[in-house]
Amino acid sequence: MKIAKLETFCTPLIGFLRVTTECGAQGWGQVSTYNADISCTVFHRQVARHALGADATDIAGLVQRIGDAELKFPGTYLRRATGALDTALWDLRGKAEGKPVTALLGGTPGPLRVYGSSMRRDITAADEAARLCHLRDTLGIDAFKWRVGKEAGRDIDKWPGRTEEIVPHVSKALGDGVTKLVDANSGFSPARAIEVGRLLEDHGISHFEEPCPYWEHDWTRQVTEALSIDVTGGEQDCELSSWQSIIGGRCVNVVQPDVLYLGGMCRTLEVARMAAEAGMTCTPHSANHGLVTLCAMHILRAIPNAGPYLEYSIEGPYTQQWADHLFVERPYAVRDGQVEVSDAPGWGIEVAPAFLEKAAYAVTEAA
Ligand SMILES: [Mg+2]
Repeated sequence: MKIAKLETFCTPLIGFLRVTTECGAQGWGQVSTYNADISCTVFHRQVARHALGADATDIAGLVQRIGDAELKFPGTYLRRATGALDTALWDLRGKAEGKPVTALLGGTPGPLRVYGSSMRRDITAADEAARLCHLRDTLGIDAFKWRVGKEAGRDIDKWPGRTEEIVPHVSKALGDGVTKLVDANSGFSPARAIEVGRLLEDHGISHFEEPCPYWEHDWTRQVTEALSIDVTGGEQDCELSSWQSIIGGRCVNVVQPDVLYLGGMCRTLEVARMAAEAGMTCTPHSANHGLVTLCAMHILRAIPNAGPYLEYSIEGPYTQQWADHLFVERPYAVRDGQVEVSDAPGWGIEVAPAFLEKAAYAVTEAA
């Protein structure tokens, strides 16, 4: 099954890839969100030419050869572009075999518990508590993550005292029986992170994400060793050498690879496997309702060291409305705090025609 045609449909926020083989089989994948137009340019310049004419069933081999061939260009854009190819080929394979991707990985369709994931810091403790409690009461979600510190904040909070206020306030409002997580998005030095970590321990928070600048693996390890609660991270890390350092150094308790930042399913499964060997849980990062959350769902239903829940963005009405109409049928309905991995072949989605009509189009195909 040789790859014959690679078409991208993108906006600056998100870009889909349609792969077609010589025999007309097709699959849908996606470059990671944000600056997706740049990722699609990289795709056609540095990824598509290696894929054209290649065997569509050798996904891992092809992904590895692309990284090797483009060795002078490591880093996020190559991986974002490769992720589109990998995810499209998994969809294609699932459709060819009549199985959902999770079944190709040894998993089963079925329900998954979600944690409601806040993306906001421009929100007061009272307003954050109110909206999380509303989702608890209306959708039955029983785990939530909210934000502390400031993104790469170097110990400076979003505003003075916000972290000290929002941790106890939201925790108390959510009450017992709810799993509580926070994310610092690279906000703290080790000393400040450990101080915040004590506050989290005192208020029943069980997951402290990305406490230190993510590239400072040793700083993160210091926090992990000092605290009794789980320290987690890895969403930004797109090179397997970084993952060897994070997992080998036991810098976190829980790994959070992002399928579309990391370059697709094959590389994410490799990180999950490395984590399993080290006895670590894997809870993939999936912070928007593009394809990445579906990728995380199919992985969580398949791997032996899956974390207890799926990251589920709650931001539609606020900052991610662009994600609301991407698919003909939205695969992310929550009932009783759970989403469902369907038994439809591949990813089980169709990209919405209205999106495709408005998107910028580019194609690489055999001459
Ligand atoms: Mg995060």
